[in-house]
Amino acid sequence: MRILLASSEVHPFSKTGGLADMVAALAKSLASRGHTVGLVSPLYRGIREKFPKLKKMSEGLYLPMGATAEAGQVWHLKGSAGEHLYFIEHDGFFDRSSYYLEAGRDFPDNDARFIFLSKAVVHLARHLSWKPEVVHVHDWQVGFVPLLIRAQAAAGVWPSAPPTLLTIHNLAYQGVFAATSYPLTNLPWSYYNVGGVEFYNQISCLKAGINFATQLTTVSPRYAREITTPEFGCGLDGVLRGRQSDLTGILNGVDYDEWNTTDNKSLVAAFDRDHPEGKALNKASLQSAYHLPVRSDVPIFSTVGRLADQKGFDLTIGALEEMLSSDMQFILLGTGQPELEEAARVLAHRHPEKVGIKVGYDHKLAHLIEAGSDFFVMPSKFEPCGLNQMYSLRYGTIPIVRITGGLDDSVIDAKDDAKKVNGIKFKEYTTAALSKAIRKALGIFADPKLLEFYRWNGMGCDFSWEQTSSEYEALFKRALSMSAGGTKP
Ligand code: ADP
Repeated sequence: MRILLASSEVHPFSKTGGLADMVAALAKSLASRGHTVGLVSPLYRGIREKFPKLKKMSEGLYLPMGATAEAGQVWHLKGSAGEHLYFIEHDGFFDRSSYYLEAGRDFPDNDARFIFLSKAVVHLARHLSWKPEVVHVHDWQVGFVPLLIRAQAAAGVWPSAPPTLLTIHNLAYQGVFAATSYPLTNLPWSYYNVGGVEFYNQISCLKAGINFATQLTTVSPRYAREITTPEFGCGLDGVLRGRQSDLTGILNGVDYDEWNTTDNKSLVAAFDRDHPEGKALNKASLQSAYHLPVRSDVPIFSTVGRLADQKGFDLTIGALEEMLSSDMQFILLGTGQPELEEAARVLAHRHPEKVGIKVGYDHKLAHLIEAGSDFFVMPSKFEPCGLNQMYSLRYGTIPIVRITGGLDDSVIDAKDDAKKVNGIKFKEYTTAALSKAIRKALGIFADPKLLEFYRWNGMGCDFSWEQTSSEYEALFKRALSMSAGGTKP
């Protein structure tokens, strides 16, 4: 098949979270399975300098944006599996020090920036010489692509327009803008209604994708069920229920070339399921990096991630206040909401011997934390898939997770299956429930045989892309068998 993917971030070129890991790995996996694959993302600041092999394509972009037009360029690079990586250059939109926001506020022109990106994707889908058969877009930033394609098909200017897939990585982020942004799309006003892109008198980029993509997916089976309920639907549960027969939950895979413990420059010692000894050296190195006492007999609990309400960091702080009287260490790497960063700093200040905090983004350190910790704490309020808990399992670090979304689908608690148990799950979104789970973890750590059993089971889990890719292939085929545009709004 010939598949064009599009996303606002792609590892290792741009990344703020799991989306970047997922699309990069999906593209690589599909290409290695013999498909022709392209992946479109913005040319953010610094990418060209970091990847000097990028080549400017001869044809530029000149795309209508309301009453005016915007010019851009496309850069190309071949990925490791032969996938085509396309980068959309527009300095006014993408040459900035961050991707989406500044000083905690969204850029005021995010509507124009990502409608431009969406139009560039559509342009490539239509004009690339290898003629993509399916277009697979990810999240709100490219949410308008399915509609823009469908509108060209409806207008009769692109009769062979391809079917589209939208993957929702996080329903909480929808790209909602004032209705006055709508003319930037150059679409007829007939799409601006409740069954189209209108969302409470505004426009919703994600809703455009949900209503007009041929097929919809999200990143775990449980989250696919959850988002059709008012509790998790973020106002779009009704729209999603209307498309339930086209909505599939596919658990993300892990790129084990990247996330592995045996050939990894970010680790100080290799280890694996059969030779776990090296984990102790990573633990000592991690304790040194965080200026904590280097002791093998104390359990390290850790968290890596965006400090956002979604991640349940308020629970972590609350539970630690109670649990830090025990013999334990806590390590954090994260960045995000200023008040959560501050709460973390205060905790470290009060417990300098037990708590280590790094506010920032550090890919290498994220690997060392996964390798050197004993438990990984993920008490998310909701979690579409979550990758860190899957990385933890492979790195012999026991995940402590809340029962929600992909966390429930990927971690096995003793109550699920005592023979395959690899983590600790809890249900209630309360400090008391997390404290109880941490107490359970302390019990496991105190029992070396039990600790080894959990680790053995976790390190044996296989979330490789083979399974995930084959599920996407099935959906591409299904989309191809349907007419472009799919369900009518
Ligand atoms: P989400 O996509 O909601 O942010 P995931 O668990 O799916 O959460 O993916 C998070 C990814 O981002 C992981 O690869 C994780 O290592 C990485 N990450 C998040 N924050 C940081 C950080 N501060 N430093 C390094 N890596 C980070």
